[in-house]
Amino acid sequence: METEKLTKTPSWAIQGLDQRDGTISPSEFRRYGRHLIMPEVGLAGQRRLKAAKVLVIGTGGLGSPSSTYLAAAGVGTLGLVDFDVVDESNLHRQILFSEKDVGASKALRAKERLNETNPNSKIIAYEETLTSKNALEIFRDFDVVVDGTDNFPTRYLTNDACVMLGKPNVYASIFRFEGQATVFDARFGPCYRCLYPKPPPPGLVPSCAEGGVLGVLPGLVGLIQATETIKLILGKGEPLIGRLLVYDALSMKFDELKIRKNPRCPVCGPNPQITKLIDYEAFCGVEKVPEVASVSPQVLDGEIRSGKKVLLLDVREPHEYEIVHLNDSKLIPLGQLPERVNELNTADEIVVYCHTGQRSARATSFLRGMGYKKVRNLEGGVEGWSREVDPSLPRY
Ligand SMILES: [Zn+2]
Repeated sequence: METEKLTKTPSWAIQGLDQRDGTISPSEFRRYGRHLIMPEVGLAGQRRLKAAKVLVIGTGGLGSPSSTYLAAAGVGTLGLVDFDVVDESNLHRQILFSEKDVGASKALRAKERLNETNPNSKIIAYEETLTSKNALEIFRDFDVVVDGTDNFPTRYLTNDACVMLGKPNVYASIFRFEGQATVFDARFGPCYRCLYPKPPPPGLVPSCAEGGVLGVLPGLVGLIQATETIKLILGKGEPLIGRLLVYDALSMKFDELKIRKNPRCPVCGPNPQITKLIDYEAFCGVEKVPEVASVSPQVLDGEIRSGKKVLLLDVREPHEYEIVHLNDSKLIPLGQLPERVNELNTADEIVVYCHTGQRSARATSFLRGMGYKKVRNLEGGVEGWSREVDPSLPRY
């Protein structure tokens, strides 16, 4: 009786792994030797890892370290979902990729890298955007989902699909110096919607692309996800279910918040209103960038060269202005524009720019609404200007 109690897999652990084929080859015995001699892993645990199927959403800052370590640890099947291509600005944290990968498909490149890390793992690349149409189909074959996404619609989508399929969702988020991690499993604890019933107003919470992230931060947080995933597979220890781990790299402190199941949760409560996947972009109120009058860098360059008087308005933040700005431009960060709009003259020809043209499109739309008729948006922002007109300007 006592032995049975000791060896019984906890209810929150991934079930059925012992019944699958997790055969370990002689070379794998050598590879996993330091696991095999741990009583908490041993041969049974290593076979469970081999039999397990883990889906990693996003191969970026979080997905890079988590998938690398999960493959190295011997997870038998790893799915990777990413529609994106590698950008130079990814390389300071997305350690799956190197200089030569810029422009390549992230999912495919990650698959190649992980095959090198551990040829015993089967890597399945989904080179597509996760949507309400494909999520259930992709998730179905996996035991656990690791959420490495960077936007609210995909987070809610991942959560709802996991709740509907009864799968654990190993969650994390990162911003600047801060990270959060938990395990959502609606069968045993809260889900993402229990914690955040409503998405924040669009534009209020900046993404890493807008607000930045310390390069090393996702390394640590992604490995918390990998660790929790391995615990779910082994059925060892105490999972982060019902606990939100909050990490602050500046003070180097970890805090833990208790999170509870919301009995009125619209997806995991006893009377769910959401029983199939919805339109998550609409739910999160993702704003389409407004259609505004615009000008291309080349046309604007021609206008300036021909002597046309144009006021260049930069609506980025001061530290971005310091990195690079156009000559003779005036800086008013987008957030200050409503209170400082009287610094602009409605009679002036104004061209608004930002980093890539989205904040400036909002500023252009705002200024038009305030009666500025001669205002246009610079297509592609200072980035586009550097690409098309003046390559000596640094891009970031
Ligand atoms: Zn819930």
